[in-house]
Amino acid sequence: MNPLKGPLLVSTPGLAPAPKNLGLPRRRASGDAILIKKIICTRCPQGCEIHVRLNDTEIESIEGNLCKLGKDYSKTEIIAPKRVVTSTVKVFNGVYPLVPVWTSEPIPKDKIFDLMNELRKIQLTAPVKINQIILQNIFGLGIDVIASRPADVIPG
Ligand code: SF4
Repeated sequence: MNPLKGPLLVSTPGLAPAPKNLGLPRRRASGDAILIKKIICTRCPQGCEIHVRLNDTEIESIEGNLCKLGKDYSKTEIIAPKRVVTSTVKVFNGVYPLVPVWTSEPIPKDKIFDLMNELRKIQLTAPVKINQIILQNIFGLGIDVIASRPADVIPG
């Protein structure tokens, strides 16, 4: 799917508001589509509301970010969004039946479903150490899934 296609989320000054429920980008007189996406930057607690203006083929402008991190974050969100994935994995003979895990870095959003399927198949045996690698180099991305807490053996 073309990441530049999608519903119009917000309008900016100088642009007439578009109908919210059509899911179609507006078009200039030239026929080029205009799409303005609203993104909340999560790189720091400031949470800047960033408006990314897109045409059919490229990002035209990025506004609302207080620093360059927000610009980079917005570009990634538009072109190839990524997320840190947190989940749990089953543990045999542990004090608790599950241990929390997360990815060492954000992974592409389109890999999240596949990763969750892989995690569901895993059954570890206690003890599990914090930061222990549970899955290495997932999907060849150079990113690991690691335990975010230890899992101790059931005493006795
Ligand atoms: S744009 Fe910069 S200041 Fe604003 S939320 Fe992102 S990182 Fe923080």
